Amino acid sequence: MRQQAQRSAAGRHRRITSSQTTKGRIALVAVATGAVSTAGIGGAAAAQIQAQAPEQSATAATPQIELAANAADIAATSSEVAPQILSIAEYKPVAGLADQLTKAVEYSNVRAEVDQALRAPSVAKPAEGAFTSGYGPRWGTLHAGIDIANAVGTPILAIMDGTVIDSGPASGYGQWIRVQHDDGAVSVYGHMETLAVGVGERVHAGQNIAGMGSRGFSTGSHLHFEIHPSGNGAVDPVPWFAERGVTIQ
Ligand SMILES: [Zn+2]
Repeated sequence: MRQQAQRSAAGRHRRITSSQTTKGRIALVAVATGAVSTAGIGGAAAAQIQAQAPEQSATAATPQIELAANAADIAATSSEVAPQILSIAEYKPVAGLADQLTKAVEYSNVRAEVDQALRAPSVAKPAEGAFTSGYGPRWGTLHAGIDIANAVGTPILAIMDGTVIDSGPASGYGQWIRVQHDDGAVSVYGHMETLAVGVGERVHAGQNIAGMGSRGFSTGSHLHFEIHPSGNGAVDPVPWFAERGVTIQ
């Protein structure tokens, strides 16, 4: 038989058999559902009466799970306790119902907000499209970013939360946007046809900040994207994204 140790108020360990534990569980279910179930109200009240009756509870510090188990036994067999159960049941559990419902709704709302926050991406892919050029030496110079090609106007997304520090014309890029992120990284977006955010503006991961284009040193509509993890000094964005769960190619 499975046994579980339970610490009493005196600090000693008592043994509770699994059959006692099962009864305790049944009584607790009755308490939990007492507020909304007529059948459960008797059980809830029984637990309260039992908890308040000193001659029937072993010690004040005895865990409530045991009290509930005793109460369930007494409620089923004793005719003396039964009238008390009914008189309290008419009033007590129902009085707390509004409170319990309010708390349940509050809890549910908080949990929904947390859920939402966890689901929002912390790092987003900057654009959908064809991966046409990687980071590395190209045409005798360093191509300091990646190119993603798609139609003019394709949404360009901020990769993380941050603040826009550049938005406008830039040599080679045609137009660029630079975003300073909260961790110190700077992301760079180039060749856009349209710009949707201005310097100083706060942006969020996944926010549409521009429309793809072919301005500047470009042979077709694409996004040129760079990531500077420490703010100055580009690294290959592909592994940088991969480490953050975003697949680029
Ligand atoms: Zn490029």
